[in-house]
Order: sequence, then C-alpha cells, then structure tokens
Amino acid sequence: MCNQFNKKFLDEASKWMTNKEHQETPVHAEFMDRAIKNAISGVLNNDGGPFGCVIIKEGKIIGSGNNKVTSTNDPTAHAEIIAIREACKNLNSFQLDDCIVYTSCEPCPMCLGAIYWARPKKVFYGCNKADAAKIGFDDDFIYKELNLDNNKRSIPFEQIDRKKALDAFKAWEDKEDKIEY
Ligand SMILES: [Zn+2]
Repeated sequence: MCNQFNKKFLDEASKWMTNKEHQETPVHAEFMDRAIKNAISGVLNNDGGPFGCVIIKEGKIIGSGNNKVTSTNDPTAHAEIIAIREACKNLNSFQLDDCIVYTSCEPCPMCLGAIYWARPKKVFYGCNKADAAKIGFDDDFIYKELNLDNNKRSIPFEQIDRKKALDAFKAWEDKEDKIEY
C-alpha cells in the first residue's frame, strides 16, 4: 500500500517536474512579487488603491503599474490599465502577443475587458474578488450589473438616435485602408 502510494507520488512528481508550466513557477512567483510590490508602494505613496501589475514578454517586464485613481483623478487608472498602456507603447502594438499579465488582484470588469482587447496569453492573479470586496472594493457589484437589462442597471442605459449613430459604422465599412483589430 505504502509502496503503491510512493510510486503514485513519484509518478506525479516526475510529471510535475517535466511540465514546463511548473518549471516556470519560481519565475511566476518573482513576477507576482513585483506586482505586489507595485501595489504596496502605491499605497505608501498615496497613489491610490492597493493594486499592482506587471506585464512580461520573453521573460522581461515590458509594462508596470499601480493604481493611481485618486492621485490622478482618473477612475480608469487601474494598475492593469496603466501596465497595458505602457506595454503596448513599448511593443508599439495594440496587442500583447505572447505576453503574461501578473496582477496582485483578480481584475475588475473594466480591466478584464481591457485584457481581452489586449489579448495576452495568460493572466496570473494574487488576491481574488472576495478579498477585494472585504476591504471595500466591490467589483462583484459591477459583475452583477453586467447581467442586468440595460434599464435595470443602477446607471440607466437608454438607446437614442441609432440610425444617425450607424453612420460611423458605415464610414468604417466603406473605408478601404482601415486597420482592423
Ligand atoms: Zn480594474
């Protein structure tokens, strides 16, 4: 029984050792540590909320940020957004091909959207939504709003002038030299 257990354990361990994702674990911890340090230094500098992020490509940090909402009066200045902007600027691209995002907390709906638009290959996060809600950052509220009908949201959304607004889409459709994304 004991030997069988040992064999199973060794098999699992050997699988674990040969799995590339796990071999990279210490690196993941190092980058997550940088994201967490960004978060803490932002708190100490009075930049904003306790959130930090780094973006990595080919083992190098190409974007870095911490929350700066209150210090810049910018409600969109979340750590991930700042890091994405810096990374895209450095890559001279609107896409984060083959990049990895390390963020100290599970992204809010805005950053989740930004991450999907930026298209990195993976996201690692430290704290989760419940941890953030416990200290007063209730992203979960926004996640719930996403599932409501437009007119049932706490900020009402109402459609007007659709026909005129479609002119912009027509201009896009007709444009031959557009850069699709
Ligand atoms: Zn966010």
